[in-house]
Amino acid sequence: MKGLLIIYGNRPREMVKKLLYEIDPVKELSKNSIIGLKPNLVLAKPATSGATTSPEIAAGIIEYLQERGLFNIHIMEGSWVGDSTKRAYKVCGYENIAQRYKVTLIDLKDDLGVNAQFLGETFKVCETINQVDYLINLPVLKGHCQTKLTCALKNLKGCIPDSEKRRFHSLGLHKPIAYLNGIIKANLHIVDGVMGDLTFEEGGNPVEMGRIIAGTDPVLVDSYVAELMGYEISEVKHVQIAHKIGLGQLYNEDTSIQEIDRENMPAVTIKPGHKVKHLAKWINENQACSPCYGSLIHALDKLDDMGLLRAFTGKISIGRGYKDSSIDGIGIGICTNKFSHNIAGCPPRAKDIVKHLENVIKNA
Ligand code: SF4
Repeated sequence: MKGLLIIYGNRPREMVKKLLYEIDPVKELSKNSIIGLKPNLVLAKPATSGATTSPEIAAGIIEYLQERGLFNIHIMEGSWVGDSTKRAYKVCGYENIAQRYKVTLIDLKDDLGVNAQFLGETFKVCETINQVDYLINLPVLKGHCQTKLTCALKNLKGCIPDSEKRRFHSLGLHKPIAYLNGIIKANLHIVDGVMGDLTFEEGGNPVEMGRIIAGTDPVLVDSYVAELMGYEISEVKHVQIAHKIGLGQLYNEDTSIQEIDRENMPAVTIKPGHKVKHLAKWINENQACSPCYGSLIHALDKLDDMGLLRAFTGKISIGRGYKDSSIDGIGIGICTNKFSHNIAGCPPRAKDIVKHLENVIKNA
């Protein structure tokens, strides 16, 4: 597959199946192939918290694989050092998935690991991963306090023993995360962007982004996600390092992007957490789609971090309810294209919103 494939909606099982039938990535695989699914179950919190991969995404992938005659399917994860993977499997709905589809759950914390080398550096990785013929990485689109974002590249940190996870932190995370992807290479990355988190990998401030993103290049996936979340690639070190050591291409305006179901962009549905509620004070929302609203929330969070929001007393309008309204004010997306200040896109990226609002606020 070339570039990225994006599907919009809020029904992960149906969305991911439709997306997989579009690219049909396993058609060459033999029926005995061992398939690994690596979700993000960093801790035992349901996907509605923004922290973990929706079990409905795993369900949709398993249905697709089984319909393709592939039944040797294993879900594998090692939660973070402070939590139990087995508890996460239960709380996050994966025990039910395993029973319903007769697939196995592997706790990578039970795997002591083996040494592997990349560019002269040694890392300990779980041996189980080496036995997989086709690995599907299922990260969540979310913020991270140290690495800015956690997505395709960082999700593979669940495939190393706990002792190695601690060592990664002592090494500052950026370089070891990038290098780990030189050792463990997932065949396909499917990002749960239906529900992610604004700032922390442990969730708590869920943000609906209304989409699933697929790609075979983790650097391309993560650099695209960085822009969706309002970051310049220069701000996300582990993605930059992974690109420099030849693990993938950075997203740019020429990247091939195929979008499915743009006309089905879902509305915002969740009750906001504390931080999202705070940022929503600057928003006038009228029938906004969640991919659009999610971009604006990420952009406002970035502007807040830059110290620009405190002095800003205006409101930003967003949503289909503003179509054809000629208003003197700031509007987000094509629905507000008759506003005096409009940030184009449908949905726009947080990076573009940040750039535009930064100028407006600074010149106010
Ligand atoms: S610009 Fe309008 S139609 Fe497009 S994503 Fe935003 S709210 Fe939805």
